Amino acid sequence: MARLSEKHIRFAQLGKNMATSMPKSRSPKSILALGESYRKRYKLKVVYKRGTGKWGRTSTTMFRKLWLSKNFEDQHIADRAHEFMHELVHARQWRSVGRVRFAIRYLNAQWRWAYEVEARREAIRVMAHIGAKKRIILDYIERQARGGLKKGYSLGRLDQKQVETETRRILLDQLDAA
Ligand SMILES: [Zn+2]
Repeated sequence: MARLSEKHIRFAQLGKNMATSMPKSRSPKSILALGESYRKRYKLKVVYKRGTGKWGRTSTTMFRKLWLSKNFEDQHIADRAHEFMHELVHARQWRSVGRVRFAIRYLNAQWRWAYEVEARREAIRVMAHIGAKKRIILDYIERQARGGLKKGYSLGRLDQKQVETETRRILLDQLDAA
């Protein structure tokens, strides 16, 4: 069974593609404004997904487009804020190594895990910044550790116990740091 290597674990822990800093204001609106300034800087075009199934339910960043989930605008502003910032982490990830290299890496389950954990650290940072209840954030972390990640991102080939342990540990560290 494939295991996460030290390299991928370290990458997920670094969080180097997260936003430089959070805005002074703790409102979700100011987070969205920050996200919007990054979106413009990166020249990402917003499109809304269509269709049913998994594709429509989640947001995706690729090919200079930020594909927002079908019901993105119907969500609570706090959820929109952390989802938006999560996607911008992916934009920085591909900008930092180039689109082709990023796409190739993303085909690899270990890298996919590392990239998604990094994006989830940003989501946790946003939730903590805007004052989400600790219980809500802990629930989110548990959902990611116990299956949210492996179901959505085909991480089945990886050692599931290790994925769960490392995901939980890194996300809890992020909550402590926030
Ligand atoms: Zn993601």
